[in-house]
Amino acid sequence: MPEEKTLRLILGDQLNIGHGWFARIRKDIIYVLMEERQETDYVKHHIQKIAGFFAAMRQFAFEITRQGHRVIYFRLDDPENEQSIEKNLQKLIKKEKFTRFEYLLPDEYRLDRQLEHIASRLTVPVAMADTEHFLTDRQDVKRLFKGKKRYLMESFYRHMRKKYGILLENGKPLGGKWNYDQRNRNRYDKAVPVPGVKVFNNDVSDIVEMIDRCGVKTFGNIEPNNLIWPVSRRQSLELLDDFTEKRLPYFGTYQDAMTSESWAMFHSRLSFSLNTKMLNPMEVIQAAIVQAQSKTGPKISIEQLEGFIRQILGWREYIRGIYWAHMPEYETLNHFDNKESLPDYYWTADTRMNCMRAAITQSLKHAYAHHIQRLMITGNFALLAGVDPNEVDGWYLGIYMDAVQWVEIVNTRGMSQFADGGIVATKPYVSSANYIRKMSDYCNGCFYKPDKSTGDCSCPFNSFYWAFLHRHRSKLEKNHRVSMMYRTWDRMKVDVRDDLVKQAQTYMAAINNL
Ligand SMILES: Cc1cc2nc3c(=O)[nH]c(=O)nc-3n(C[C@H](O)[C@H](O)[C@H](O)COP(=O)(O)OP(=O)(O)OC[C@H]3O[C@@H](n4cnc5c(N)ncnc54)[C@H](O)[C@@H]3O)c2cc1C
Ligand code: SF4
Repeated sequence: MPEEKTLRLILGDQLNIGHGWFARIRKDIIYVLMEERQETDYVKHHIQKIAGFFAAMRQFAFEITRQGHRVIYFRLDDPENEQSIEKNLQKLIKKEKFTRFEYLLPDEYRLDRQLEHIASRLTVPVAMADTEHFLTDRQDVKRLFKGKKRYLMESFYRHMRKKYGILLENGKPLGGKWNYDQRNRNRYDKAVPVPGVKVFNNDVSDIVEMIDRCGVKTFGNIEPNNLIWPVSRRQSLELLDDFTEKRLPYFGTYQDAMTSESWAMFHSRLSFSLNTKMLNPMEVIQAAIVQAQSKTGPKISIEQLEGFIRQILGWREYIRGIYWAHMPEYETLNHFDNKESLPDYYWTADTRMNCMRAAITQSLKHAYAHHIQRLMITGNFALLAGVDPNEVDGWYLGIYMDAVQWVEIVNTRGMSQFADGGIVATKPYVSSANYIRKMSDYCNGCFYKPDKSTGDCSCPFNSFYWAFLHRHRSKLEKNHRVSMMYRTWDRMKVDVRDDLVKQAQTYMAAINNL
């Protein structure tokens, strides 16, 4: 009988050191991590995203090695690296005489299918294990909404609160309400200063040098000796502490607010740590609850706490459930049949639209924008301009630190672009300058005038907004959340409506110069 020897694969977003796999040190098990061209090249990525993933993978390999586990690590420029998961595995299994292969359930459809295919071609027995990260399994959302056309997040969220007993008192929601969103939509009024952004000064110059040397195409900025993102569990926990102590007390209040004064506001910036699984969602929820119960630090009201927990226990798990219920068709949905190209300034921030310039500049600088910037600035504009959802997806998947397809595509194609025709959102998230002026300070001093809809310096969001509604009337007017806007449109004089459509056409013709 040959000696039993197992090879276990860990993907770049499976850095869960609390996983049962690592509970015991076993000499008959070897872990493998690979930096692969297929991962750097499936879309053009922000340099910080690739450097951050590789740095976190290397740190993870270092930590489990220190614990006593046996690890094989393929760097991107390793001559032994075949740049193919399958070839690397085949070679290792043959050379090291492995008798068994195990991997963790991938979260991206692409990798899920690839590993299933690889597994079917290996000559050794294969087993797959759960990542022990999520609070639902892949099919929970689909099962919960069986036979329903719409998947209501609020129903799912209440189900999750009950399932895990979170923010409940005698089976009822703590404070009397399930959802405090109505009280959580304030503009930033400077009543409390935004705390300085907690950053890490990780030196990733060797990784950046390697990425360049290997010819990987990237975009965005980086200070190679000063990557600000957490690349280890320890740093992720420090970021979590910073959030619960300094930002959570105001998280809900300013959740939708935007200001030129701060690029992160009161948001947690935990998505990279969560999506790489350096942090577990339940420990993040519990840390928030513990801080809210603590006698020290600023008071954390139920509005703030519930608002934050809903993002993790509700939105994050719900989005994942939609992904698995609708892939692979989801990738092809284009409800409005949009075909335009993404304007050049998505890659350069070179635009006179202040709101777009602010959101894109910080995205290029930090690989981060918070939810409302993604949804109501860059996403809103792309939808109003009729951009092909494939291009929009490519951009969001490349630019953000936290972008992995299972969460990116449902947020982009579904919530932001309404390309799924309303599986996720009950209406398209489009707005004129009104919303942006109300929720931000971007309009102050902008080249364009938020209260002008036609003529010189009129805000492009205004004419685009009406032209969008006009263009898609047949698909939208029966939607009760939008129908009121059609009544407003119908009440306008014909020449006013014509001027709006003409203005939108003029701007559309010069879209790269706005
Ligand atoms: C067009 C678009 C694309 C997006 N792409 C991604 C993406 O690629 N990866 C990603 O993680 N999130 C994505 N989001 C959701 C959300 O914008 C980010 O999770 C959030 O901005 C991350 O910053 P944060 O950690 O500071 O979040 P916070 O505001 O502090 O929220 C806390 C956590 O809640 C979770 N969360 C909040 N909103 C959502 C949501 N809508 N969907 C899923 N989880 C949520 C995240 O894990 C986040 O870290 C996208 C949203 C939009 C509108
Ligand atoms: S005026 Fe228009 S383009 Fe300028 S910041 Fe306001 S919404 Fe954006």
